Amino acid sequence: MKKEKLAAVRGMNDLLPAEAPLWEAFEARAVDALRAYGYQQVRTPIVEHTALFTRGIGEVTDIVEKEMYSFVDQLNGEHLTLRPEATASVVRACIEHNLLYDSPRRLWYMGPMFRHERPQRGRYRQFHQVGAEALGFPGPDVDAEQILLLKRLWETLEIGPVRLELNSLGDGEERAQHRAALIAYFEARADELDADARRRLHSNPLRILDTKNPAMQSLVEQAPRITDFLGTASRAHFERLQELLAVGGVGFSVNPRLVRGLDYYNLTVYEWISDRLGAQGTICGGGRYDPLIEMLGGRPAPACGFAIGVERVIELLRENRPTGGQAVCDVYVLHQGGATYTSALSAAEQLRDAGLDVILHAGEASLKAQMKRADASGAEYAVIVGEAEAAEGRAMVKALRAADTSAPFAQQRPLELAELGETLAATMAAASGLDDERTSRMN
Ligand code: ATP
Ligand code: MG
Repeated sequence: MKKEKLAAVRGMNDLLPAEAPLWEAFEARAVDALRAYGYQQVRTPIVEHTALFTRGIGEVTDIVEKEMYSFVDQLNGEHLTLRPEATASVVRACIEHNLLYDSPRRLWYMGPMFRHERPQRGRYRQFHQVGAEALGFPGPDVDAEQILLLKRLWETLEIGPVRLELNSLGDGEERAQHRAALIAYFEARADELDADARRRLHSNPLRILDTKNPAMQSLVEQAPRITDFLGTASRAHFERLQELLAVGGVGFSVNPRLVRGLDYYNLTVYEWISDRLGAQGTICGGGRYDPLIEMLGGRPAPACGFAIGVERVIELLRENRPTGGQAVCDVYVLHQGGATYTSALSAAEQLRDAGLDVILHAGEASLKAQMKRADASGAEYAVIVGEAEAAEGRAMVKALRAADTSAPFAQQRPLELAELGETLAATMAAASGLDDERTSRMN
């Protein structure tokens, strides 16, 4: 009887080979940008104690209220959660390993996050973030620096226009005053609140501003603004940040309704938004979270960070660059089994020694069938180790992509096995040098 097929968990995606080059390109650029600003990598576990997130993210947030994958470890009764974000984990790791004892830190991470949301375009149950955290810096210099890093990244990725929305949430006291004003305002118009908002009215009224309910937009539009409650220090922080962004050539707009989903933010908050992604247009959220380190049991220290939603950026990249068609290797090695296989194996190793990516045909097939595979692999060259050539210590080389018959190896040409690696590596290097020259002349 045929076994039932198993499928992936809803909202959790496989990354298939056709898409992998986009992810690799994104990750490489992101790492370059992070390094360019002195950020160092941390990797924390995907599973943490549930208490880290309930304490670090806040009880009355979408994430903790309804999105966490929490479970009791049946083997030892521990309450665990698949991380919904990584800031709390990074802070936990810094406290646990005393990383902030002698100097501040610039750290970055990337990896999967888990939130039990309704899957839709740009919203998944397992998704990926690349993020950075600058711990021990009061700002606003590092706040600006992180925004410049992101601007640089968007430019190198060529993902088109993304706009920056900026706000300041002030300090605890200013937020408390704003909160009281918000509660008074919403209480006076309680009949216009939806169920979510009514529930949050006293626990987290700030989050009402973040509502996605269209019926509440005008109510929220007229609500008291945090910017009207900022004191001198908070105002100065916000103004300096805006000056630095101007110096760095970053355009932005102040959005007084921008509050962000998590409880621990203060002062600077921002989002980068693309208009090409529909409802899920925010590709990155960031800001300052000065209270968090102390909330998680560390010595008080200010901090600031961001998280990029990788799937959303990949979607923008996908629009620019068609997927598929990427070469899997530089050279495809063909053989006729038996002794030719062992010669081919040595040849392939030698080509790899020379720095080339090589597929050595596995199993037995006619040379014609192997040639088809070679072509499909996208390889630049086929190396054919036939019986006649192998007996003389040689192989045939054929250029697979050369439209021009004067190109090296456009015609099949025999080559000593011993010099194969060096010759092909040099030919490929020369050809790519030529390409670089052509593109630089074009620009
Ligand atoms: P939203 O308001 O859209 O739910 P959020 O405030 O929950 O966003 P953050 O916690 O700030 O999002 O996460 C930072 C970024 O990670 C988001 O801007 C987005 O790009 C991405 N992101 C968040 N949740 C998801 C998800 N479920 N699927 C894909 N990407 C996500
Ligand atoms: Mg969310």
